[in-house]
Amino acid sequence: MSSELVIVYHRQPYEEVEENGRTVFRENKSPNGIVPTLKSFFGSVDKGAWIAWKLAEDPDQPDFEQKVEIKDAYGSYSVSRLPLSAEQVREFYHVTSKEAFWPILHAFKERYNYDPVDWANFRAVNRRFAEAAAEEAAPGALVWIHDYNLWLVPGYLRAMRPDVRIAFFHHTPFPSADMFNVLPWRKEIVQSLLACDDVGFHIPRYAANFVSVARSLFDVDVSEFVDVPERWISEGTALTERRVPLSVSFDGRETQVSVTPVGVDTTYITDHANAPETQKRRAALRDELGEAQLILSVGRTDYTKGGVQQLESFERILEDNPDLRGKVRLMHVSVAANRNMTAYEEIQNEVEQVAGRINGRFGTLGWQPVALISRAIPFTDLVAYYQAADVAWITPLADGMNLVCKEFVTARTDGDGVLVLSEFAGAAIELHDAVIVNPFSHRAMDHTILAALDMPQDARRARMAGMRKAVLGNDVKEWTPGRLSVRRETAPQISAA
Ligand code: UDP
Repeated sequence: MSSELVIVYHRQPYEEVEENGRTVFRENKSPNGIVPTLKSFFGSVDKGAWIAWKLAEDPDQPDFEQKVEIKDAYGSYSVSRLPLSAEQVREFYHVTSKEAFWPILHAFKERYNYDPVDWANFRAVNRRFAEAAAEEAAPGALVWIHDYNLWLVPGYLRAMRPDVRIAFFHHTPFPSADMFNVLPWRKEIVQSLLACDDVGFHIPRYAANFVSVARSLFDVDVSEFVDVPERWISEGTALTERRVPLSVSFDGRETQVSVTPVGVDTTYITDHANAPETQKRRAALRDELGEAQLILSVGRTDYTKGGVQQLESFERILEDNPDLRGKVRLMHVSVAANRNMTAYEEIQNEVEQVAGRINGRFGTLGWQPVALISRAIPFTDLVAYYQAADVAWITPLADGMNLVCKEFVTARTDGDGVLVLSEFAGAAIELHDAVIVNPFSHRAMDHTILAALDMPQDARRARMAGMRKAVLGNDVKEWTPGRLSVRRETAPQISAA
C-alpha cells in the first residue's frame, strides 16, 4: 500500500536489537528527540513510510529484510532500509557530510576538507533514497526530507515523481553565500533544493541566507519580503533578521521558504520534572553540592559547540577570582559522538586536557571544580541536573537551534535558574530573556558567567518567566513540514511563519 506521508531521514526510527537470537525493533529509550517527533506525524495519516539506510556486508545481497512493516503507538508505517556498505556510509556520511558540508554549514571554513570527497558516491546514495521514496509515495503524497546529507534527494525525486509534494528541512544553520559557495557542488545542491515545494529552516536568518545563495547562483525570482514576527526578534543579537522572503521561483516552479523553529516536548519534560523520583534526585544533588553553585553545560563533543572555549573561560574566572574557588562547580557534559573521526577525537582530547588542567590547578581533596562527563546521560537524569543547576551555560560557536537550552527552561518548573546562551545558537532569537553572550569574546564569556552566578533572585525569576513563556508557547507538537500540511485535503496555511 502506498503512503501519504514519506519521511526520509537517514537513521532508522527505532533501535534494532538482538534478543534470544531474534531481531526486535525497540522504541528509542527516550520519547524526546527528533525521531519520535517525526514518527508522531504518522498519527495523522492512514499509512506512512520511512526511508533510512542500514549497514550491509554485501549491499547487493543484504542479509536482512529491506522493508519492514511497523505498527506501534505512533501509527502504521513501513521502513525501507537501503543496504549500504561500510565504505559507502563512511564516504557519504563521515566524509562528504561531516568533513565537507558540516564545517561550511557552521562557518568553519578552515576545517573544510574537500580532497577525500567521492561525489559520485554521494550522488549514488542520494539517488537510492530518492528511488525508495518514489516507490513508497502515493499520488500527491508529501515526502519530507531531512538534513544536508540528503541534499540531492529532492532533485532526483522530482524527476521521478512530478506529482508528489516535497518538503525539506535543515536542522543545521544555513550560511551566507560567501561561506556556502565554498562548496564546489553548490549549483547542484541548490538546484535540487529548488525542486522542493517547501524548504524549511529553524530561523529567519538561515532562510534569508538560502535565498541569497540561490540568487547568487541562479536567476531566481524572489517573492515580496515580509516582517519577521516580534517573537523572533531579539534586539541587537547576531542571528536576528527583520524581513524574509516567502518564496523563490526558478524554472517555472515556486518554492516556499519556511521558518519553523523546532520546540521541545514540554508535556513530557514537565511530567518528568514534577515526578517524585526527579525531585528526590534534585534534592540529593543539591545536598551533595552543599553551599556550592552548580553551572551545567551539556552538548555533543563537536568543535561547533565551543566546549574548549567555555572551559578556558572557567579557568580564567577561577584564576581571576580566588574567592570563587570551592564555591562553584562546573558539570561539563560533552558527549563523544562519531568516535572514529579525527576532528572529534582532537576536540575530545582538548576538552579532557583543559578540564584536567583546571582540576589540577585549582582542585582540592574536597572540591573538584570540573566534573567532565563524556558519556550520554539518560534524558530523565538530565532533567534532575537541569533542576539542580544554578546556571545553564550553553555557548556554542554555531548551532542550528540547540534544544538543551529549551529543555533546561522547560524543566525549571520552579521558575528559577539562569540561562547563559550564545547568540550563535538559533534558539537565541526566541529566548530574549536569556543572558546572551558572544562566545568569541573572552571578556564577554567571563563577565556573563560571573553576572549569572551573582544574579539576584527576582531578576532570575523575571527572566525565567519570560523564557518559559517563549518555550512553552512553541511546543514540538506545533512543528510542521514548513507551510505544507501532512494531509493533502487540508488547505495549506499561508502566513509568514
Ligand atoms: N542529550 C541527552 N543526554 C546527554 C546529552 C544530551 O539526552 O548526556 C540530549 C539532549 O537532551 C538534547 C539532545 O541530546 O535533546 C541534543 O540536542 P541539541 O539540539 O541541543 O544538540 P545537537 O546534538 O542536536 O546538535
